Amino acid sequence: MKHNSVRHPRLGDVIVQTCVAGRGHSGCAQCDGKHVGTVIKIDDPDALAHRLVYIHWPAKKPTWYDSEKGYASLNIHNLRDEFQVFRKGTEIR
Ligand SMILES: [Zn+2]
Repeated sequence: MKHNSVRHPRLGDVIVQTCVAGRGHSGCAQCDGKHVGTVIKIDDPDALAHRLVYIHWPAKKPTWYDSEKGYASLNIHNLRDEFQVFRKGTEIR
């Protein structure tokens, strides 16, 4: 299947996640609505569909982010309302 891979995160990309605490997740208290992190590790870089992305959150980690599992690259790629991807200062759309 032809797949636009540009929005799949790469090492060093900055990820901005709009907090989903109000959408079925809990425990993200006193959240201002955004979590900002940097991609520090990518698992299985040759298999786009199963790729896992690990993010360092210097300020405030989303409470549901599991540092053992990371995030599915596919979710970051697909959930445009929730994730913004910045590469070298430019948002990837
Ligand atoms: Zn939050």
